[in-house]
Amino acid sequence: MSLISVKDLYFNYPAKKDALKKVNIEINDGEFICIVGENGSGKSTLVKCILGLNKIQSGEIIKKDRIGYLPQKTEIQSNFPASIEEVVLSGTIANNINKIWYTKRDRATANRVMKDLDLYEIRKKCFMDLSGGQQQRVLIARAMCATEKIIILDEPTNGLDPSISNQIYEMLLRMNKKRKLTVVMVSHDVHRAINYCNKVIELKDGEVTYIGDSKNYRAGG
Ligand code: ADP
Ligand code: MG
Repeated sequence: MSLISVKDLYFNYPAKKDALKKVNIEINDGEFICIVGENGSGKSTLVKCILGLNKIQSGEIIKKDRIGYLPQKTEIQSNFPASIEEVVLSGTIANNINKIWYTKRDRATANRVMKDLDLYEIRKKCFMDLSGGQQQRVLIARAMCATEKIIILDEPTNGLDPSISNQIYEMLLRMNKKRKLTVVMVSHDVHRAINYCNKVIELKDGEVTYIGDSKNYRAGG
């Protein structure tokens, strides 16, 4: 089943024409997709169009479900005086924008996600005191509180050591299998990421240059 369908998408920034050109993509239930491409190829722009953060000028984007989102790191404030639990819980706000208090259900969701991602035991720790890898794990948990269906992560392992990056990919693959979570991950780190995903979307200068099975994909080819 298609969860997100992008049809003939074009996107211009005022200062950058054709940031995306004629993009056609299907994202299906259960997939683990890696979006790859050089810096400036349009990966983050595409993600923001899908999320509705960029208003598209032409084409169509059809979405079936709410989407959990982890923005690219530069857009996240990491000196946040809150506990792991509070940061994760705040991800449920997408579900009840008119409520001031967290519901029992929100807390149950946050607890389930924290247990899944091995954060529950340390949930009272301060977010600021965590390592970069742990902070990313918390922010992924936060994104997972918005939805059980699909999350989109923009370069979740940027700036992390290779071994920590692998742990994050393994954790995402585990959720993909265990929870049937559809994962769409932007990555600069093709050679590592490709071992975990089953589908690759490659962008170059705003155009899709590959979409298909990760087994048949050759970076730069
Ligand atoms: P990627 O995520 O693949 O590195 P981006 O989607 O961030 O690429 O950027 C694609 C292109 O659009 C680049 O040429 C970039 O300079 C340009 N761009 C990105 N954001 C903006 C913006 N807010 N205004 C103008 N141009 C932008
Ligand atoms: Mg980007």
